[in-house]
Amino acid sequence: MIIKTLLSRLFKKKKAPISLIDHQHIVPRSAHKISRSSFSGNALKVLTRLKSAGFQAYLVGGCVRDLLLDLKPKDFDVATNARPEEVKNLFTNCRLIGRRFRLAHVHFGRDIIEVATFRGSNTEDDSHVLDDTGMIKRDNVYGTLQEDIWRRDITVNALYYNIADFSIVDAVNGLSDLQHKIIRVIGDPEIRYREDPVRMLRVLRFAAKLGFTVETKSLSTIRRMSFMLNSISNARLFDEVYKLFHTGVAFQTFQLLLKEEVLGVLFPETKKIIAEGSDNHIQAFIEHACRNTDVRIQENKKVTAAFLFSVMLWHVYKRRSKILGEQMPKVQANSMAMAQVLAEQGKITAIPKALVMMIRDIWQLQYRLTKPINEKTFAVLEHPKFRAAYDFLLLRAEFEPEHQERAEWWTALQVASPVNQTQMLTEAIKKYKKTGHSRRKHSKLS
Ligand code: ATP
Ligand code: MG
Repeated sequence: MIIKTLLSRLFKKKKAPISLIDHQHIVPRSAHKISRSSFSGNALKVLTRLKSAGFQAYLVGGCVRDLLLDLKPKDFDVATNARPEEVKNLFTNCRLIGRRFRLAHVHFGRDIIEVATFRGSNTEDDSHVLDDTGMIKRDNVYGTLQEDIWRRDITVNALYYNIADFSIVDAVNGLSDLQHKIIRVIGDPEIRYREDPVRMLRVLRFAAKLGFTVETKSLSTIRRMSFMLNSISNARLFDEVYKLFHTGVAFQTFQLLLKEEVLGVLFPETKKIIAEGSDNHIQAFIEHACRNTDVRIQENKKVTAAFLFSVMLWHVYKRRSKILGEQMPKVQANSMAMAQVLAEQGKITAIPKALVMMIRDIWQLQYRLTKPINEKTFAVLEHPKFRAAYDFLLLRAEFEPEHQERAEWWTALQVASPVNQTQMLTEAIKKYKKTGHSRRKHSKLS
């Protein structure tokens, strides 16, 4: 036993010596366009205070990438050699968060600057941090800037703006990839995706968002490994799916997910129906909704994940309710189908309760929005989810001509004066009586 321990100590892998950043990888202030005036005052405060306290401090990730591309950064992330506790000591408005990644959040009102301590490499004791599939379980090994660079996901996200001399550190050719519009995984894509399968979604998200091409190996490996997303917690996958479809490029993202065979992992039942053929319109239906979402985001209008999920799962729900309807009354079948489809999807992407309720409302209101008009029809306008359900009906009407007339009627009703509304209602009731539509005939969900 003692000999074994001595031998293992003797042959234990030595940690690679830490080299300083090669001067070739430092782009001086005169050779790039990021100026302090272009980034958030709060980020500048954090960087400056860290620097004054003797720490290294860099802006990193999406903000550097976006500033170089003349895009507005979503948030500003800082990387430093200060430990989370040391960061906390420097700022009164700082909270430490996260277990897997311990991070410092510095709060300025609603603005939060995320400060991450450089991550170290796992090479020395992989067994403690990787599980047997190669996935990272814990990631609180601190390291140096050099090590941190190699822990980033893609090259264009691994550019560091140094507050000490305003230079950019680019050790992985991120600037060249930025210029050539390439998304490239840092290191071996298979190992990096295995460590954290969510990186596959990030690659596709950034490709869609930036309109970049994914480097061949980074792309082809996704198809082979997308099944590994099954091992990601349903809560994290919900957040990632939300980001995929709510960054203003849902349409392009959807195309990529479909093409690279990732959609089937996120929405397996939806993917199955799409794969059955072009005559079921489901692909066009989803694409149309994605385009609408993108326009809403461009126009700074509110969007909700409930709408996306009701669109994605609508045909799955309809099909399930048809099958169940062969064994039980329609109303019961609808309700059971709703519960089943949402519970199954929830295992993959944990849909928050409030959204589940909203999806149910959107689907249930379809019945009230399309059934024969009667004296109670007005009440639907007061339903808190009327607007979302109406938007959903408009979407359906694009593909189901039988709903077009009704969709137009609802559109007109909303803008009509109270007097005209009453008149519209009376006329519609008369019309339905004349054409012999009875309640019984329509007593199922449309
Ligand atoms: P945006 O905020 O515009 O969506 P971002 O690149 O800033 O894009 P964040 O999720 O804010 O993305 O992450 C900040 C940085 O942290 C990334 O740029 C990347 O360097 C690193 N990062 C985030 N998630 C991962 C991951 N799963 N694996 C490796 N690095 C990651
Ligand atoms: Mg960011």
